[in-house]
Amino acid sequence: MALAPRSSLRSQLVLLMSRGKPRMSSSYSPAVPPTLDAPAVPVMPDPDPGRRNDAGVGHPLRDPPNRKGDAVIDRPLPFTPEHQYNSKPAPIDLEKINNMEQLKQFVELWVLLDNFQLREEVEDDITWNLTANGIYSSKSAYEIQFIGSIASNMNKIVWKAWAPPKVKFFAWLLMQNRVWTADRLQARGWPNCDRCPLCNQTLETVDHLFIKCRYTIRIWGAIKEWIGIPSIHPTQWADLSISHWWNMVAGGTAPSRKAISSLALLVTWEVWNERNARVFRNKHTPSHVSIEKIKAEARLWVRAGAKHLGNIMPGE
Ligand SMILES: [Zn+2]
Repeated sequence: MALAPRSSLRSQLVLLMSRGKPRMSSSYSPAVPPTLDAPAVPVMPDPDPGRRNDAGVGHPLRDPPNRKGDAVIDRPLPFTPEHQYNSKPAPIDLEKINNMEQLKQFVELWVLLDNFQLREEVEDDITWNLTANGIYSSKSAYEIQFIGSIASNMNKIVWKAWAPPKVKFFAWLLMQNRVWTADRLQARGWPNCDRCPLCNQTLETVDHLFIKCRYTIRIWGAIKEWIGIPSIHPTQWADLSISHWWNMVAGGTAPSRKAISSLALLVTWEVWNERNARVFRNKHTPSHVSIEKIKAEARLWVRAGAKHLGNIMPGE
């Protein structure tokens, strides 16, 4: 970090301190008691540890409160509102502040402590600052584990849709680009099929294989006609990623959402199977045969329990 001129730092510090003039209060109660959780700040070293200011107490920054019990024991003189900040402040060694980060920490500590006062008759206590009333609850402790988590639609469009578990697991990997398509194999220098085995036109990627390949688009076009889904436009998927596509197709409104979610899982799974058959067994199935296979598999899924899918299938 670049060092600012010391005179500049000093002037900024004086300005900030003048804004935060200490207030007299006898009932201040910070959310996190500094006596138990003092911030990590550079504490001003005291050139004369035996010196006290005119109020008879150590400076709150240079002599931060200690842990429970220490504060009262170490201070022979009473620490009352009348004694605190009622005279000129103790000198602060500004030479010890060398950069903006230290200045920032110093001011933060100043704000925390400027009207905090120890009272001899009050015992230290612990405050749980994750609840409004300061009392611990298991619910608040559980919820803090999710701070910083990222919201995902995966539960709705994959895990709660009807499909065999292996198909859901495959879709979960797929949406995170974690299936072994040629682009990922190439990135590791591993053997790969290079071009898409379904169209032999371009590098095989997740986005291409499942939403942009002409073979896949042909299948989706036929499925759209078979079931009658006007909201699906396979020829307009060229600019989408697999996760955007999945959310668009399967993230609609219930009850058809559950049916479309199952259908997306089924078609994607069959496309992957056809890809693997070509790569590993050199077995090619024309798209019109794959379409009939998907229809037959959909009927099996309905018989196995995919009732929402059955509701939108013709003749079911
Ligand atoms: Zn292709």
